[in-house]
Formats: sequence, structure tokens, C-alpha cells
Amino acid sequence: MTPPTVAGTSGLPLRPELAGIEPYGAPQLDVPVLLNVNENPHAPGPAVVATITEHVRAAAAGLNRYPDRDFHALRTDLAAYLRVESGVHREPEQLWAANGSNEIMLHVLQAFGGPGRTAVSFAPTYSMYPEYARDTHTDWVVGRRAEDFALDPDHARDVVLREQPSVILLASPNNPTGTALPAPTVEAVCEAALAVRVPTRDGDAPAVVVVDEAYGEFRREGTPSALELLDRYPNLAVTRTMSKAFALAGARVGYLTASRELVDALRVVRLPYHLSAVTQAVARGALAHAGELLAQVDTLRAERDATVAWLRSLRHPDGRALEVADSDANFVLFGTFADRHAVWTGLLERGVLIRETGPDGWLRVSIGTHDEMRAFRDALVEVAGL
Ligand code: PMP
Repeated sequence: MTPPTVAGTSGLPLRPELAGIEPYGAPQLDVPVLLNVNENPHAPGPAVVATITEHVRAAAAGLNRYPDRDFHALRTDLAAYLRVESGVHREPEQLWAANGSNEIMLHVLQAFGGPGRTAVSFAPTYSMYPEYARDTHTDWVVGRRAEDFALDPDHARDVVLREQPSVILLASPNNPTGTALPAPTVEAVCEAALAVRVPTRDGDAPAVVVVDEAYGEFRREGTPSALELLDRYPNLAVTRTMSKAFALAGARVGYLTASRELVDALRVVRLPYHLSAVTQAVARGALAHAGELLAQVDTLRAERDATVAWLRSLRHPDGRALEVADSDANFVLFGTFADRHAVWTGLLERGVLIRETGPDGWLRVSIGTHDEMRAFRDALVEVAGL
């Protein structure tokens, strides 16, 4: 008798494309200085904690019921926040929220990607993008960024017109490089996307462009937000998160704004009640203190600029200057090291955890408090002999 067929060695019928793949995520280590996942180093203050606690207590008393599936109150608060932060007027129906902007983008791929369709981005970029594509059976194609990590609009247009994708993902500021896109580049991609013809049930439609502004609030003076382009491009969506500038990574709240039609398409693919009553309560409690939570952004931006300047003043033992990418985010990519793993390990041995990511030889450091950055500088000088 022939033995029953099993997939791989585990005896589970794992999808072949998942075989041997490790779950995504940076190491979570217990060290004094955590500068590896672009968190905000400032914990919420007592007033914020008190309001969040009140909101959660009220929600707890109703936890026998499912939450508001469409979280109308939260969408209204998010629209009000964007009006204050970026001066854009958005209706609650033009907002969407989920458990982190990661889940938002998965919703986008679930609604607009799928078998026989293609998603496009430009590398190096956020390493979760190909995972959304994989998990939604969407083909994944990457164009390239230039040496300085900028995106050449002509190259972007060529890739979009050639690939005819249904979704284009642009991180701005980009992770892991910190690069923000100038408005004309985003416009060029939106124009190219409008010329794409994705077959649909009723004929065809242009591509959706997602500008992922997870780090938007950290952009430097004069750097625009794609929020300003929403009125001109019906196929544009902008995602943001409360994880970074808002210092609320533990709450898992991301959001998107786009046309009502686009948001309604996301409502079709979300799981019912995907945003728990507790999450909604925490997010609304935090939004009531937006000013206080965002107060540290300017300090972090100044610390970021000082870190860039300091790294640029350094030389390797062989006399080469360090390379440091311009950053509009709360992290800095720098290098290049012949053995970046040795530098990363040396820092870790001194209690400083950064991230081994980006093109070969580069390392990424998240911006922490002034004291944490001093610890990083001291450790780096020692480890790399700078
Ligand atoms: N986009 C980018 C570019 C990111 O770097 C991250 C987090 N590292 C996210 C989206 C997702 O963040 P969250 O799910 O916490 O909103």
C-alpha cells in the first residue's frame, strides 16, 4: 500500500510557497537601549493613561456585545485629527482603521490584488509588502530606487506602465531608508496609475496607489504629505499609523484615507468586528490627547537631524567617510560596513539593539531619547573604531 502523501516533513498540508519561511519580525530582546523597531521612546504620560483607562473601563462594561463594526466614532475622531494635523478635510466615510497599518494594507491587497493581478513597489522598501502580496496570491514586482534611495519618476512610470499592476505601494518616508518622495514623483506615479487598465467585472479600471505615511509626522519642514493630493486623484489612498509619532505601537491602530468607494471596498474584505471595542476605546482616548502625544515629535526630529550630522562627521578606520541616508523618519540608515553583523553584535553586547536591515553593509538605528542616543554613539565609536 502507498503511504499517504504529506506536504514537506511536518505532515501538514502547508502551502508550498510558505515552506521553510520564518515569521516576520525583528528579535524582541531584553536590553537597556531598544532602537530597532522605530518605536517612539516616550511612554504615554499620566493624563493620557487616565483618559485611556476611563475609555477602556466604559468599553469593558459592554464587552458582552460585539463592537461597532464600522467604528463610526473613531472614524470621526480620525477625520478631525487629520484636519488639525494636515489641514485636509475628510469625511468619516473616507476613513478606515485596522489593527496597525499592516492590516490596512492587507485589506487593500485583499480588495484590489488577488490571483492574476500584480502589486508593485520600489526596493529597498518595507519588507512586509511582499508578504501582503504572497498572502493574497498577488504577483509581486519591484522596481528599483536610485543609489541615494530616491525614486526616479521616469523609472517608476515605466515599471507601472509595463506591469499594469492593480496596486502600487509607495512608502514615504520609506523604511528602511528614511527617504520621502517629492510631490511631483507621487503625482507621476498617480498619473501612470490612471493610465493602467486592470480588467474588472465591468470592464477595466486604473491602478490604486497607496502612499504609506507611517512616518509622515516626522517629515522635515517643507516635505509635503500625499494627503494634499487626495482631492486630485480618486485612485490614491494614504495610510498612517498611531504606532510611531503617536507613541501607541502597543495599541495596534493604523488608518487610511481615500475615496468613499475605495473605503467601501475595504469594508467588504475585513473580518467582522476586526477592531475590538477595547482597541477603539484606546484609540479614541489617545486621540483626545493628540497634542500631548505628538509633543515629542519635534524633539525626536531634532535628535534625528543631530544623529545624521554626527554620523556624517565620522570616518571608518581606513579613512572612508560613513554613508548616511537623508531621513524624514524617526530612524537613520547608515553604513557601509564590511561586516555589519559584527557591528550589530558589538552594539548588542553593549546593551544597544539596532536593526540589521537594508542593502548589504547598512544598519538602521531608530531615534530614542537623548540618553539612549548617547549610549548608541558611545557604543558605535567603540565597536566600529570610528
Ligand atoms: N509601514 C511602514 C513603512 C512601516 O515601517 C511600518 C512598521 N514598521 C508599518 C507600515 C506598520 O506599522 P503598524 O502596523 O504598526 O501601523
